[in-house]
Amino acid sequence: MPLEETGWLRRGACRSSDPELFFPLAPSSAQERRAKAVCARCEVLAECGAYALRAGETEGIWGGLTPQERRRSRFPAGWRTRASA
Ligand code: SF4
Repeated sequence: MPLEETGWLRRGACRSSDPELFFPLAPSSAQERRAKAVCARCEVLAECGAYALRAGETEGIWGGLTPQERRRSRFPAGWRTRASA
C-alpha cells in the first residue's frame, strides 16, 4: 500500500488497540462489536472504509465494516437479478 495513500492511518482510533481485535484469528460477534465501537469514534472512519473498498481488502475490520459487509457493499442486493434480466 503506497504510504501517501494511508497517511490517515496515523490518526486512526485503533492505533492504541490490540491488532487482534481488528484482524482476529478466530472472529466472533463480540470481537466485531468491540472493534466497531472503536471505529465508531474514529476521525478517519470515512477514509479508512473508502480505502478498504478501493484496495479490495479481504481481511479484517476497516472503516467499521467486516469483510462480509464490504463484499455486500461492493455487490448491492439484487445485482445478480439485474445482471441476469
Ligand atoms: S475506522 Fe476503524 S479500522 Fe479504520 S483507522 Fe479508524 S479505528 Fe482503525
